[in-house]
Amino acid sequence: MKRRVLVVEDNAANLELLCDWLEMEGYQPVVATGLKAAMEIITGEKPDAVLLDVQLGDEDGLKLAEWIRREPTFLHLPVIAVTAHALITDRERILHSGCNAFISKPLDFKLLSEKLALWLRTSTKVEKAGQKGF
Ligand code: MN
Repeated sequence: MKRRVLVVEDNAANLELLCDWLEMEGYQPVVATGLKAAMEIITGEKPDAVLLDVQLGDEDGLKLAEWIRREPTFLHLPVIAVTAHALITDRERILHSGCNAFISKPLDFKLLSEKLALWLRTSTKVEKAGQKGF
């Protein structure tokens, strides 16, 4: 079964680019353009990973990461922030919010591919270990 990746992005062109790329990589993209829609999708559809645009119009994308980490069910859900900012202070803010990794725009798709695969493997291992009672 294809892994489902939620793309949270307010820019239509970026959204399309990311979805096309995810499909080419063999993932099934799911989309949300704002925080509320993203929360509903995470709760209802339980995606395998989240690509999160930090700037969602007027909304702070990192609020979604904070919300995800407060929910025990989604503790191990991989969240990769996508940001136009790569300043040190932003990095800290991004990682403090609970994102597992971040990647800067313009996107390096090879790097994104590696990070996504890494965090999907990591979360799968943690979940399997949890089921065995470790
Ligand atoms: Mn944006």
